[in-house]
Amino acid sequence: MTTLYQNFIDGRFPPADPDTAIDVHNPATHELLARIPTAPEEEVNAAVEAARRAQPAWERTPAIQRAGHLRAIAAKVRQHKERLAEIITREQGKILGLARVEVDFTADYIDYMAEWARRIEGEVLTSDRAGESIFLTRRPIGVTVGILPWNFPFFLIARKMAPALITGNTIVVKPSEETPINAFEFARLVAETDLPAGVFNLVGGRGADVGAALCNHPEVGLISFTGSVGTGSTIMQAAGRNLTRVNLELGGKAPAIVLASANLDLAARAVVDSRVINTGQVCNCAERVYVERAVADEFTAKVVALMAATRYGDPMAEADLNMGPLVNQIGLDKVAAMVDRAREEGGEVVLGGRKADRPTGFHYEPTVITHCRADMEIMRKEIFGPVLPIQVVDSLDEAVALANDSEYGLTSSIFTQDLNAAMRACRDLRFGETYVNREHFEAMQGFHAGRRKSGIGGADGKHGLYEYTETHVVYMQHG
Ligand code: NAD
Repeated sequence: MTTLYQNFIDGRFPPADPDTAIDVHNPATHELLARIPTAPEEEVNAAVEAARRAQPAWERTPAIQRAGHLRAIAAKVRQHKERLAEIITREQGKILGLARVEVDFTADYIDYMAEWARRIEGEVLTSDRAGESIFLTRRPIGVTVGILPWNFPFFLIARKMAPALITGNTIVVKPSEETPINAFEFARLVAETDLPAGVFNLVGGRGADVGAALCNHPEVGLISFTGSVGTGSTIMQAAGRNLTRVNLELGGKAPAIVLASANLDLAARAVVDSRVINTGQVCNCAERVYVERAVADEFTAKVVALMAATRYGDPMAEADLNMGPLVNQIGLDKVAAMVDRAREEGGEVVLGGRKADRPTGFHYEPTVITHCRADMEIMRKEIFGPVLPIQVVDSLDEAVALANDSEYGLTSSIFTQDLNAAMRACRDLRFGETYVNREHFEAMQGFHAGRRKSGIGGADGKHGLYEYTETHVVYMQHG
């Protein structure tokens, strides 16, 4: 009997309508895993209303007590680590080792945000008047909404919920319809803690109806969205009607620059790791390489050897894998079509370049494409698969100019042992993040924020926390 999950609204699980439920499949085996509800309009409204009712008391709860609630949730996540990791792997397709990292990181992230309880500070400002004090405080926005993608579905719950709750907001989360089971399991764990009803709510459904209904709701103060540029733009237009704040973490097309002065073994390893992690489906993944001519052949040979050694398969059935399948048929077809167009545009596929020959699973072969040029689609659009396009350049300046000539601006990297070149790249690369001599992956105490179409605002650390607050200034005239 297939499980039919229920929404989590105001601390309760209302009955789900099987007629409108969404099937969730395993991308490696295509087996039906579970069904999730589509929240009807009245349940979307009930979730926002529950969050609105719960918010004032939650805001008045001392921050250190709010932190205690967060820690209790983190502890639940740790207790159920193995089960949650298997759920993530089954519905999303990432390898089990990475799913375990995702669960650990989620629990650590919730604890990290809880640590801010005693550190959310205001300011006392100097007044122009005699006998006046000016206080600036940071206050919660009210009801927030978190709309999640499918690539790190479990961690993204924490990335939205933990900063929202520790700053005194309440939240309604909508997971991706591709990978919602982990979120419904998370809601069950939350329900086992004594978090007050309405502080955390979860509704299932597709973006165009349930997601849109949340984004159009006038009582929502902040929409925190992670996903594609197209959806980000649609959400921003919806938010415009009510002038709702948005925090948008969108796509990427991260450049990796490899100079002749690089440690080529380190560079090849880091670039490949940044390409195959989560089967290339990460916003910060190395998506295009600019390598200096003098080392282009040697570097490419190293990359091809590492990509060729990348093992892929069904992560629940096979051991020692580096990659699972892509998330769905649409993702697989998109990657295949991009590689075909890259060939037509003059790219040379030196490894892979095909859908894998396997009976099930949305697998694409690890692929390397050389002879790429700046005008090719594969160098400009997000691939979101295990495909690495390489372009040869003649200087650091050329590489930086090509890297910056992109509608995306999330992450970037530079590989060199030349300190001056590294510093120049850090100065000139117009991205939210630059990694020097290491793989692309952010830390929870950093600030993950994209430029250009990669987003508005950011997440993590102190700056990410403040995205969930607004300021209040008190001018107090006294004796
Ligand atoms: P997506 O935009 O298709 O969907 C994301 C979410 O938006 C889903 O929950 C979906 O149901 C919802 N949605 C769709 N239409 C909506 C609408 N009109 N109104 C409200 N909600 C709507 O993205 P995806 O395919 O799930 O995720 C992959 C994308 O996410 C990639 O582009 C990737 O780069 C990006 N991403 C970015 C970051 C980051 O931190 N910048 C992190 C992870 C993923």
